[in-house]
Amino acid sequence: MKKSYCSVKNKKDFERIHRPDLAVVGGGMAGVAAAVTGARLGLKTVLVQNRFCLGGPASIECDCDADGGLVCGASEWMTRDARETGVIEDMRLTGESLFVSGWRNYWSQMLRDLCEAESNLTLLLNTEVYDVETEGSRITKLTARTIGSDLTHFIYPETVIDSSGDSFVGFEAGAEFRMGREAKSEFNERLAPAESDECTLGSSLYFRAVDVGHPVPFVPPPWAYKFEDETPFVSRGHWDFKKGYWWLECGGDMNTIRDNEEIYRKLLAILYGIWDHIKNHGNHGAENYAINWIAGFPGKRESRRLIGDYILKESDILENRNFDDAVTYGGGNVDLHPIQGFFSGNTPAGPEHGILSPGLYQIPLRCLYSRNIDNLLMAGRNISASHVAFSSIRLMATCSAGGQAAAGAAFLMKKYGVPPREIDRKHIPELRRVLYRVDHTVPGVDIEDAANLCNGAKAAASSSMPLECREVDGREILSDKTPYSAQSFVAANNRIDSAFFRFDNPSADSKTVTAELVRQEKMYEFTTGEVLAKAEAEIGVGTAVEAEFRLRAEVEPGKRYYIRLTGTGGLSVCYARCYLPGVYKARKIAAGWPPKGDNRNLCCRFQPEQRPFEAENLLNTHNRGGDHLSVWISDPAKGFPQTAEIVFPEKKSCGCVELVFDTNLDAVNIYSLQEECVRDYRLEGVCDGKPVALAEVSGNFLRFRKHIFQPLMLDGLRLTVNASNGAPSARVYQIRAYAKGEIE
Ligand SMILES: Cc1cc2nc3c(=O)[nH]c(=O)nc-3n(C[C@H](O)[C@H](O)[C@H](O)COP(=O)(O)OP(=O)(O)OC[C@H]3O[C@@H](n4cnc5c(N)ncnc54)[C@H](O)[C@@H]3O)c2cc1C
Repeated sequence: MKKSYCSVKNKKDFERIHRPDLAVVGGGMAGVAAAVTGARLGLKTVLVQNRFCLGGPASIECDCDADGGLVCGASEWMTRDARETGVIEDMRLTGESLFVSGWRNYWSQMLRDLCEAESNLTLLLNTEVYDVETEGSRITKLTARTIGSDLTHFIYPETVIDSSGDSFVGFEAGAEFRMGREAKSEFNERLAPAESDECTLGSSLYFRAVDVGHPVPFVPPPWAYKFEDETPFVSRGHWDFKKGYWWLECGGDMNTIRDNEEIYRKLLAILYGIWDHIKNHGNHGAENYAINWIAGFPGKRESRRLIGDYILKESDILENRNFDDAVTYGGGNVDLHPIQGFFSGNTPAGPEHGILSPGLYQIPLRCLYSRNIDNLLMAGRNISASHVAFSSIRLMATCSAGGQAAAGAAFLMKKYGVPPREIDRKHIPELRRVLYRVDHTVPGVDIEDAANLCNGAKAAASSSMPLECREVDGREILSDKTPYSAQSFVAANNRIDSAFFRFDNPSADSKTVTAELVRQEKMYEFTTGEVLAKAEAEIGVGTAVEAEFRLRAEVEPGKRYYIRLTGTGGLSVCYARCYLPGVYKARKIAAGWPPKGDNRNLCCRFQPEQRPFEAENLLNTHNRGGDHLSVWISDPAKGFPQTAEIVFPEKKSCGCVELVFDTNLDAVNIYSLQEECVRDYRLEGVCDGKPVALAEVSGNFLRFRKHIFQPLMLDGLRLTVNASNGAPSARVYQIRAYAKGEIE
């Protein structure tokens, strides 16, 4: 039968009803991480994003960096082993795999694929939440509309995560918020202004320019600014004009929400003024270049921040404060920009406006829920923080990790039927355990994982790596200006009789080097700590000469120590390029000890042998390098395959195994596959001495793998690693086993 044409308005056909456990509003980095985590925890989740793509400033339409290379967080600058894990690590690792497969500008597509792979997640793109209804102190309904399909969505959520950046949901629901800068007196913040005001960080506009193959003129529009000389370009390098400039910034003295369109107009006038300067004023080598793309909206740094039961402040960051209810963390620079942006006449960012590399700091759950709306959590740049603290927490990976933590809180809110404040008061250890099951942890915070069937198990492996770096990949000079180098490590047995290091001695005579064994008090501190032993060694003339330091000291297994080397006269100490979790070298430079993530260790070995990478580490809850033994690394000399075997204390019903691989959490921006990561592996159960196949994987590049299967009575597990993505060893943090896959 022929269908009749539509002449009567059928409204119902254009309406959709959703009753999710969790509605996430805003599909920037925080919202995507929150939504995917919620879905992975089993929450029926809706993610509403008002643009056609995901990622906010990292999206293809804003293009702050649409390859994800600028997704920064706690591992920025100098903090070791600090990269965020969980969904944000999946994003980074998937991103690098796409990059090496030839993809470019893929970040938004990757985020979309990540969302669409989750069966519990409904993704609504091009859809804007425009109305929020409340009853008492709860949000009961969100109304949203999809551009292009005329669909209206009525969403009745149990819990809402506002990750809209602008805090639209919170604002409409009457949640307490702040916008602007606190006065110095309020939180005693060094970087705050004397008086509070409404200023924020400004917004930026990106453009792209291409070489068209022949000279092209540029006639600026009459409304463009005129920048005829270099005066406005203080510390604003503009020699590379192909990718736009983050410092093309303004609007900090306007209202970045209300005045967004006006700010865009002003940014355009600045942009064309800069392009006029590049093309027509001075020789910038841009004769053949033309602008071929400009972002359609400003990249917004700051707007409203929702207020929780705690406001994170400057001192929490600078003092690296710990919180009893810490559920996520940061570590990026305190990075304020001058409010006048491009017109400041001052440097656009840097030490004048912030504090570099403050070290790891914790963020409590109290910063992730609204003080006065009971079912409202926040994620991303709008969490409860002062303006100064915001300037650090705004980094993309920090926003994403916070989103993951908020989703974990939503999971427990559903489980117990309580507001987040109750989760904060009564369920923090459980929240941390839930998040651990999706690979989100806070460095240094211990986890209790009673459900792990491997508790009380025994672990053995085909081989393990001794703490020994032999290959010489480079050298650093011990000179008057850099009087010592140091090697830090966690002891694996109770004695160090001798430590051996390699040196170059180009002079005609032997030289003396002193080694001090020091109990390390703080991971990055190489000037303090009790000196346990001191020994001297003569360094003979030659290259990569090994010297023995007879330290004869007792040490405590599982504790961190460092050996400090002092020597002068043109000597160099040799290092190997090799990432080892929790093991690193440091070098004194004039300003202090920046422990840079350079994957280098001094060429060293010990007597008796230190073996900090044994299979037993698979059984503890440490899943990154830190002040503890954490990882199994097979002997690189033995090649592949390598096997680790877990024997349960008794037969257990097992339906889920979680594997945590080493993906070098020390690396900051990654554009290649993490060579340490296990690539091909076989997972077997062991039942009455016989293997039972559970999973066979090839081409893995992810850190966290979860295998769910029909529950089996097992005596243990066996993991056979057949290849890595380049490193010579198998490297695994954890093999965890559970009765079933669902998290309870
Ligand atoms: C120019 C610029 C450069 C930066 N450089 C870096 C860098 O190099 N490294 C780094 O780590 N960080 C950088 N940042 C900071 C970082 O990008 C952001 O702080 C972070 O991405 C914020 O993520 P978010 O998810 O909290 O918010 P956003 O990315 O702002 O995402 C919020 C999303 O919600 C959507 N939304 C808003 N209202 C609604 C609604 N009512 N309904 C549905 N959707 C809605 C928005 O369209 C947006 O996509 C930069 C930021 C800018 C602006």
